[in-house]
Amino acid sequence: MWHSYCNKGKFENGFIVLINPIEYFGNPKSEKELLDKGLKIGENAILFYETRQQWNSCNPLDLKLKPATSRQKPLGGKFVARVPSTTAKIDEKITIGFNTSGQKGAGIRVYEYASKEVINDCQTQLEYLFWNCIDADEVALAAGMTTEQIEIRKVHIGEICESRKLSDNKLLHENRMIDKSNKTICPLCLERLKAKGFMSRLTQSEGRNVPDLTVTEINLFHIRELRTGEFNHKTYNLGWGHHHCNVVCKDSGIIDTLKWMKMIVDKNIKEGIQF
Ligand SMILES: [Zn+2]
Repeated sequence: MWHSYCNKGKFENGFIVLINPIEYFGNPKSEKELLDKGLKIGENAILFYETRQQWNSCNPLDLKLKPATSRQKPLGGKFVARVPSTTAKIDEKITIGFNTSGQKGAGIRVYEYASKEVINDCQTQLEYLFWNCIDADEVALAAGMTTEQIEIRKVHIGEICESRKLSDNKLLHENRMIDKSNKTICPLCLERLKAKGFMSRLTQSEGRNVPDLTVTEINLFHIRELRTGEFNHKTYNLGWGHHHCNVVCKDSGIIDTLKWMKMIVDKNIKEGIQF
């Protein structure tokens, strides 16, 4: 019952496993079952409240549980809550535990719990995708690499990808990460990505003037959206995409976003709106 919260049931040192409080309190054998897997609430597992139902049915404050203060051992407590507000006035947003000041929208994301191997593979694949951007060489040259260095780097990344099976272009294409010519694309709008978009990131996020407004900022992009309880921080699911496209489909996923967009466009056309 707990294995879906992590990497195929394999826990690695430094992991924290998120436990659904309703499942935990609803099963009298929870504690023992967790122990059998080497897990203990407050040590390497925490109760993670993310819905109003969980919060109301086993309120950790009523149970006198302490919130976790750290994402690493010692956790300092047994639960963390990230419950969104509802339309009801009394149901305000609940954010308790792991608190660091000024952390905007500090939701816990499942990818924080990926193993080192998975993280390394993801990074390598992301670099592979960088080098498949149409203007990658040009951008790397401008950033100070020599043609020779670029070639060496590409061969190096290519070799790792080959041995780790990270450059399956058919799969990358199916997952909307590259096009038919193996060029890196935005998973939502399918436009080819310009590596220049990586370079403009810092200046944009700091709110400074962007030197080239024709360049769209690039962000990490989860092909299937992250959900607590699903292990989606993995290769072939983490790519690059336009910041704007990512914002639009962050929570609902690509296909649902496309359906939503189609509905809006259809409705506008039906109303005779010209655009
Ligand atoms: Zn896009």
